[in-house]
Amino acid sequence: MANGYIIYQGASALDGAPIVVIATGFESGSTNRKTGSMVQTYVLRSDVDPVSAVRNGTDASICGNCTHRGTTATIDGQSKNTGRTCYVNVGQGALAVYRAYKRGIYPTLPKGQAPASGRKVRLGTYGDPAAAPAHVWQSLLRDSSGHTGYTHQWRSPQIQALRSICMASADSAADADEAQSQGWRTFRVSLDAAKDPMLKGESLCPASAEAGKKLTCAQCLACGGADGRRGSIYIPAHGGFAVMTNVRRRAA
Ligand code: SF4
Repeated sequence: MANGYIIYQGASALDGAPIVVIATGFESGSTNRKTGSMVQTYVLRSDVDPVSAVRNGTDASICGNCTHRGTTATIDGQSKNTGRTCYVNVGQGALAVYRAYKRGIYPTLPKGQAPASGRKVRLGTYGDPAAAPAHVWQSLLRDSSGHTGYTHQWRSPQIQALRSICMASADSAADADEAQSQGWRTFRVSLDAAKDPMLKGESLCPASAEAGKKLTCAQCLACGGADGRRGSIYIPAHGGFAVMTNVRRRAA
């Protein structure tokens, strides 16, 4: 078995641009401190490295209308992103996976194989699962022992098949209300816990600093979509220094 596979290569369901989905960690597992050992999945533009894509806005093909992407502009002939509040540092794992993909190290997953059998899987370690067809994820999850997944595209009629396996990412209490009324469970990020506290029906993510990081996602698995569990999840915004600086600016 390879450590990583291409599980989809084709048009983005969000804007038709070329994307690739790569699942990694089949042999080595994940060293991510928040998730614990899970198969990780990266949704990437196949023709633009993820750092450039964030800077020039072509990350819309894999993240859609997510509010955490920030805004892009050309300044002195160079593409720049400002105000990004996404917790994913694309210069780390996503860029490493993109470069490895360009070096050709990932084989295409042979039809009928279930490489995640008995493993836990994270849908959209980077990128929105809604950018790829739902059957790609349903196949990957075959015989798996649990998963987590999140989508900002929950309002789109085309992606309702993901409701059973993904949480709706909510950026406000109003978002959460709307998504829950449509049958989604929500994962709500609060930019300011004092002004925007946890609501009735929500539980604090046990991997958060506020909960004492008492569980990893692999141990918790609460974020598996509308099937199985009840209740929604709340977490104060988290991320590195630059992200938290932008979070504080947005919350002010
Ligand atoms: S609630 Fe559980 S599965 Fe969801 S992000 Fe937190 S630790 Fe991970």
